[in-house]
Amino acid sequence: MAATLETRLLPIVSGQQQPGTAAVTRSVPLFGLHAEALAAVNARLGGPRFRAGQLEQALYRQWAVSLDEMTALPKPFREQLHAAGYTVGLPEITETFRSTDGTERYLIAGLDGQTVETVWMPGGDGREEGREDDEGSGSADAPPAAGAPGDTRGRNAPQRRATICVSSQIGCAVNCQFCLTAKMGIVRNLTPGEIAGQVVAVLKRQGVHLGRDRINLVFMGMGEPFLNYDAWVGAFRLLTGPIGLQPSRMTVSTSGIVPGILRFAEEPVRPKLAISLNASNDAVREAIMPVTRKWDIAAILEAVRAVPLRPREKITFEYVLLGGVNDHPHHADELVRLVRTAGFPSYVNLIVWNPGPGTSFAEPAQAEVDAFQNRLISRGITAYIRRPRGRDIYAACGQLKRTTR
Ligand code: SAH
Ligand code: SF4
Repeated sequence: MAATLETRLLPIVSGQQQPGTAAVTRSVPLFGLHAEALAAVNARLGGPRFRAGQLEQALYRQWAVSLDEMTALPKPFREQLHAAGYTVGLPEITETFRSTDGTERYLIAGLDGQTVETVWMPGGDGREEGREDDEGSGSADAPPAAGAPGDTRGRNAPQRRATICVSSQIGCAVNCQFCLTAKMGIVRNLTPGEIAGQVVAVLKRQGVHLGRDRINLVFMGMGEPFLNYDAWVGAFRLLTGPIGLQPSRMTVSTSGIVPGILRFAEEPVRPKLAISLNASNDAVREAIMPVTRKWDIAAILEAVRAVPLRPREKITFEYVLLGGVNDHPHHADELVRLVRTAGFPSYVNLIVWNPGPGTSFAEPAQAEVDAFQNRLISRGITAYIRRPRGRDIYAACGQLKRTTR
């Protein structure tokens, strides 16, 4: 679907469209286009060069939701855009669910009206609490451009901190046995504009001021980012480029898609990397993550070794604790050996399994979770327990299934 959509847009943005034909009737969202594509749109309409930059500012810094709002652009140019079928708008938040812990889960409509899920977690994601400066990135996000809405809102208000959990696909094909998203199967890939649009829609809704607030992004929502690599990286470039978020405050999580990890290793600018390990050996992993048959733990670790880490950067190993399946002390010992011999700096995030309809695992008792963590720590492995967020509204890890209650 995404491929079809991109293909459909290409002739228009690259100027190969036959004059006077479908461009007028088709609607082409401008949000999601990179600088070069915007320059091509501008050139096609005969605008002066600087206009492409104004367009980019209006879309990605002002977060304009209509052509009418783009007042920095002359009216005739906006009319030309409209006549040529270009549209402006952010993905619409169609439903909001608010947790008692402040977490908000949104259903956000994609280009075809299908919804994806995005989660806003105020005060951090409970995963890296107190250690967000691990890489020394204590600076604030890039300030919004002059005239951006964020520029005028409460500069003196206290800094807010939050993490946004972003989806990369509708559903997921990976079929991890403990994950609710897996139950949907894969519906379709999201486009770069849809992935980045989720973030901007939430920033706008929350009145985030990028010059002041501290926003983390985790690509840990619905879907497997590395099975939609091009769109995911396209969104990442928009988010860190014109939108102005910091790459060092972003984490992408993968179930271990080796070709994706190898591509990721080549990226000049990239977020931090988390690997959903979830087991200490291939046999257990294969039972809960069938994708292990394609890429086993050794292959995943070898691919991760190709990622050039920044000073003090660490790889995160996510480990969902499933009662009686992977939470025995001997699993902890095996995990210690695995982490020690991985060949790169890392730490372990223990995630208590979040239950949901149709999944039949047991939630480990708190004492077992603590014992597992202590066993890792006492053997010299850094290990955190990720506090579940928004469980009551199906917003916690692995619970994203477009549940509408
Ligand atoms: N597809 C990617 C990113 C999204 S899943 C991946 O798998 O890494 C984000 C995290 O949620 C993963 O670490 C996954 O192992 C975890 N997870 C999935 N289902 C869960 C559940 N029911 N309870 C707790 N964590 C879960
Ligand atoms: Fe997909 Fe991640 Fe869920 Fe596995 S855990 S099914 S990869 S979303």
